[in-house]
Amino acid sequence: MPADEYRVYALRYAMREARRHEHFIGGDPHDAPMPMDYFVWAMVNEDRAIILDTGFTEPVARKRKRAWMRCPVDSLALLGIDPAAVEDVVISHLHYDHVGTFHKFPKARFHLQEQEMHYACGRYMRYPRLRHSFEVEDVVGIVRMAYADRVVFYTGDADPFPGITLHAVGGHSMGLQCVRVNTARGPVVLASDVTHFYENMDSGRPFTTAFHVGGMLEGYDRLRALAPTSNHIVPGHDPEVMRRYPAVPGLEGIAVELHRDPIA
Ligand SMILES: [Zn+2]
Repeated sequence: MPADEYRVYALRYAMREARRHEHFIGGDPHDAPMPMDYFVWAMVNEDRAIILDTGFTEPVARKRKRAWMRCPVDSLALLGIDPAAVEDVVISHLHYDHVGTFHKFPKARFHLQEQEMHYACGRYMRYPRLRHSFEVEDVVGIVRMAYADRVVFYTGDADPFPGITLHAVGGHSMGLQCVRVNTARGPVVLASDVTHFYENMDSGRPFTTAFHVGGMLEGYDRLRALAPTSNHIVPGHDPEVMRRYPAVPGLEGIAVELHRDPIA
C-alpha cells in the first residue's frame, strides 16, 4: 500500500434514541424515530495511524443520557491501534462528542482549526444555546494542550499528511473541519458534523445545532465538491453508515470499512 493511501474505519461507540423533528431546523412533518450513532474514525497504513475525533467519556454519556457502548479510545485496540503510540489526532471541532477523551492520547498532537478555539473560548459561549454542545473541561484541557505545544492550529484548508487533507467548513460550529483521505476506491470524505445524516445533506435541511445556517448549507456543497461521488461522503452521526459499509470481520456492529465500496 502506498504511503499516501489508507484503510479507513468508522468505529461506533455510542447511540441515542431520537425523533425526526430533533434533527432538522424547522422540524419534520413525520413524527418517527430517528436514532443517532456516535463515531470516531481511524485512517491507517503501514507508516501511520491518524485518528479523527475522540468521542466522549462514560461520565459525560451518563450526564447527557447517551447509550455508551464502549470507550472510543480503548476500542481502537480492536483495530490493532495503540492509543499510546498515536502521534496525530485530527479534531473536527470541539463539541463534547468529538473531543472528550483527548487525555487518553499521551503523546498525540491535536490538529484543529484556530477559529474553533476562538469560538469555544469567546463571546458566544455566553449563550446556553451555543455552549450546550461544549464541555468546559474539554475546552480547558485543549487550552492546556496548546500551552504544552501539542495543538497544531490551521487557518483554513491544510494538507498535513500524505494523502490526507483538512477542509475548513464552519457552519455547525465556527471552526468545524472535515477530512478527505485517499483510499483504494478514491478519496473518501469524512464529513464529521458537516452533515450529521445523509438526509441533512440530501434534502438541504440543516441539523438543529447551528452556529451559521448559511455556512451549513454551503458545507453540503463543499462535501459534494470534495467527493468523486455521493458514495464517498460519510456523515458524522448516521446509523446508515453501519448498514451501508462492510463490517470489519469479527467487529460486526462496532466497526466498518470505509475504504471499501458500500454494500447497500
Ligand atoms: Zn457531533
